[in-house]
Amino acid sequence: MRYIAKEYYLVEPFKFVLKERIIDKSPRDFLLLKPIVAGICGSELLYFRGEKEPEKLRARLPICLLHEGVAEVVEVGEGAKIKPGTKVIVNPMIPCGACNPCRTSRENLCQNAKYMAATADGLARTYFLYPERRVLPIPEGVDIEVAALTEPLSIALNAFEESGARKNDSVAIIGDGPIGYLLALISSYVGGIPPEKLYFIGVVDEKLSLASDFASTINSLRNHAALKEIYGEIDVSFEAAGGRAHKTTIRESIDILKPGGKCILLGISMGEVPVEVSKIVNRGLTFKGSTRSRMEHFIRALELLRSQDFQDRVKRIISAKKFVINDVNDLTEAFKYADTEEGESRVKPGRVMVYFP
Ligand SMILES: [Zn+2]
Ligand SMILES: [Zn+2]
Repeated sequence: MRYIAKEYYLVEPFKFVLKERIIDKSPRDFLLLKPIVAGICGSELLYFRGEKEPEKLRARLPICLLHEGVAEVVEVGEGAKIKPGTKVIVNPMIPCGACNPCRTSRENLCQNAKYMAATADGLARTYFLYPERRVLPIPEGVDIEVAALTEPLSIALNAFEESGARKNDSVAIIGDGPIGYLLALISSYVGGIPPEKLYFIGVVDEKLSLASDFASTINSLRNHAALKEIYGEIDVSFEAAGGRAHKTTIRESIDILKPGGKCILLGISMGEVPVEVSKIVNRGLTFKGSTRSRMEHFIRALELLRSQDFQDRVKRIISAKKFVINDVNDLTEAFKYADTEEGESRVKPGRVMVYFP
């Protein structure tokens, strides 16, 4: 059959343009997918606001944004086994398969990968073709809106794994955004870190309170004394804030570590961030960057979501306000909402979700 895809391109900061593309046939091992629901990630707001490095903006725009989401299989190419009508989560990364990281089971480090809403078009399209090997069917009983958060969950799973944190370790997460919250949840749920040894640190009480039944929360702005109390006490810290706060959050992630402690860096910011190197050297600290995730983390995330209790906890970060996308204005409104100070993403840990009818 013939499908007319509507594609929402960000052509310049704050401006989406609609284009149509005709899709005739799904190639071998490919699926024709129809996005249903997607979350707006902070990394995409950087493109929307034009705050990405100018050379990246020049090279990557126009681009269809959105990389966390769920789609329905509409048609399948020859060789594909999934049935039409199946709802799937989309792994937004297609690794090259040929480089050293790809050949050594570290596809998340592939530097030639196509990643939606970064180096490839994302889910802001009504139809698109995608290889079957990069999607996973959603298990029965998993809410599709929660399933749309499989990608950020997979990132938290990979980062926690890379930290090597063990049950008796004290763990601190700096950054109260969705990734910070999901890291706290994984530390508790998968890592078995008890609330008195698990610190969730941020600057917005309403965001922090969502984890208060499984973590000790600290507002580092309003209660800096509480943060100081854990200086030198933590085995593993995660820096999951980045952005404008980076200078402060890196310093805090160093100061809270015990001698021999480890810091996992997830947050990103433009340019250089000053670091007091002697603190790292003298106390023998380890720093490790963590980026993206592998297919195995998506599979694990979906397994975890089979538990209703886990699903309910993930659901806490979904914004109450939903957007149905019928035209360019709807998508612009959704991004503006996710971006503004009034938007729930700033004051609540709200992933703003958009629906494609
Ligand atoms: Zn993301
Ligand atoms: Zn590769």
